[in-house]
Amino acid sequence: MRKRIFNNFKTLLSSASNNIFHVNKLHSYPNFTKNVYQVNRGPYKSLEEHHLTFFRDVLGENGMIVDLCDLEKYNVDFTKQLRGCSTLVLRPTTTQQISKILSFCNHNHLAVCTQGGNTGICGGATPVFDEVILSTELMNKVIHLDELSGVLTCEAGCVLQQLNDFLVERDLMMPIDLGAKGSCQIGGNLSTNAGGIRLYRYGNLHGNVLGLEVVKADGEVLDCMNTLKKDNTGYHLQHLFIGSEGTLGIITKVAIQCAPKPKSVHLLFLGAQNFTKVLKAYKKARYDLGEIISAVECMDHQTMELVEEHSELSSPIGPYPFYLIIETSGSESVHDQKKLEGYFNGCMDKHFILNGVVATSAAQREKLWSIREGIAHSMYQDGYVFSYDISLPFSSYYDFVTEMREYMGKKAHRVFGFGHLGDGNIHLQISIKEFSNEILNYIEPHIYNRVDELHGSISAEHGIGFLKRKYLPKIKSSENLSTMRKLKMLMDPKGILNPYKVL
Ligand SMILES: Cc1cc2nc3c(=O)[nH]c(=O)nc-3n(C[C@H](O)[C@H](O)[C@H](O)COP(=O)(O)OP(=O)(O)OC[C@H]3O[C@@H](n4cnc5c(N)ncnc54)[C@H](O)[C@@H]3O)c2cc1C
Repeated sequence: MRKRIFNNFKTLLSSASNNIFHVNKLHSYPNFTKNVYQVNRGPYKSLEEHHLTFFRDVLGENGMIVDLCDLEKYNVDFTKQLRGCSTLVLRPTTTQQISKILSFCNHNHLAVCTQGGNTGICGGATPVFDEVILSTELMNKVIHLDELSGVLTCEAGCVLQQLNDFLVERDLMMPIDLGAKGSCQIGGNLSTNAGGIRLYRYGNLHGNVLGLEVVKADGEVLDCMNTLKKDNTGYHLQHLFIGSEGTLGIITKVAIQCAPKPKSVHLLFLGAQNFTKVLKAYKKARYDLGEIISAVECMDHQTMELVEEHSELSSPIGPYPFYLIIETSGSESVHDQKKLEGYFNGCMDKHFILNGVVATSAAQREKLWSIREGIAHSMYQDGYVFSYDISLPFSSYYDFVTEMREYMGKKAHRVFGFGHLGDGNIHLQISIKEFSNEILNYIEPHIYNRVDELHGSISAEHGIGFLKRKYLPKIKSSENLSTMRKLKMLMDPKGILNPYKVL
């Protein structure tokens, strides 16, 4: 096994480019969201000179962006498919400044769109009209780390990768990891209840976040900065804001439980003949590798082709119909390697897999992960991408991609699927040359109806944002929706926080 693995690694190391995730520079601007999606502007005030004077008093000149060119990167979303027309970005550095800003906006009926790293892919972080953009990018301080309990307290604008780097030096790590880690912020992660590759082991953010500080729409600061693991004193208000996509309040600080950095990490990259075999290999991994599995991802060969076409990365094991990526994190390398070897040989003997490599060093693992993390970068170079982040039972997990490929026929350039297999979450992507309303109407609501019929979820981890808002009433019961609306009314009666999103 080892001979095969390390032979293959030579190919991988020579063909892989660096794995740093870069957001492309804008080369062309998309059409305005309000026009493409024919949205009506809400009854909000437009910015006037006296509003700007107030913001300048609170933040100073450097805390504001008004230059149209500089504004563009805040107005356009990560996928470069949505574009707002805000004329003002506010960049506060303290909770008190946010409190003053929101109190003023609420009083003056100015709409606000909170933005973290702007890596969200359902349009939650960019304005639809001229909402004031409130960026948390300057709120990026680590406040405290309790190295014994592993509880980290920090500001909402801290970039995920920077937090992780800070922790790794102290033998800890963030309980969350995702491809956008170099740009996304912890506040954005919380507001979307982001999943990512570590969810399999550490669970979602509701389980890891101990406390939050939030500014409400009227400017009131809600201090829920609990740092205790157990605290059943009344309602757990902090959970209201996790996954609320900037519609109920602005998260300014967080206390999060971090995990010890594992002493032994391995990554398997496996090739399989078909998806049934992928599932068999996954099931075997759950039994054979059990307590050391920390991530389980998969991708089809169309996804690998896309990555190979748009980057210098390539499959380390040659072409296979499906790929399965399994990461293990344990505390004893010899023990873990023995388990991995047994698992690999067992899968080969049973023909669950056809080939594989294992990465043992951090550099090798990074090279392999860069293939998975490079997908997003490649796919937005493939034309216009209709992107669906769905949860499905395993019985229909990949069949649904095949079904959609047949449904699209020649209408699509490429239909491909990859995702967090261990969480039952697949990212189905349909790329076409350029956006067309006709194709959009052909795909939606068909796709959402089918997901509903298959007892899936139309948003496994990305949220509802702008793009999926009209499907929420179709999947949530009227009781659910009316409770959500009442909550929104209670928290933000004038609807100034992230309008046109979620509800
Ligand atoms: C390459 C790539 C890989 C990705 N992989 C994953 C993945 O594996 N799993 C996953 O779940 N997502 C993934 N995403 C999506 C995205 O990165 C996540 O949703 C991330 O959590 C967004 O963080 P952000 O700071 O960029 O937030 P933004 O995009 O800026 O904002 C997202 C939403 O949160 C709101 N918001 C932001 N900050 C705050 C705040 N402080 N208070 C209140 N509301 C706020 C915004 O208004 C918006 O509605 C990926 C994206 C990319 C580009």
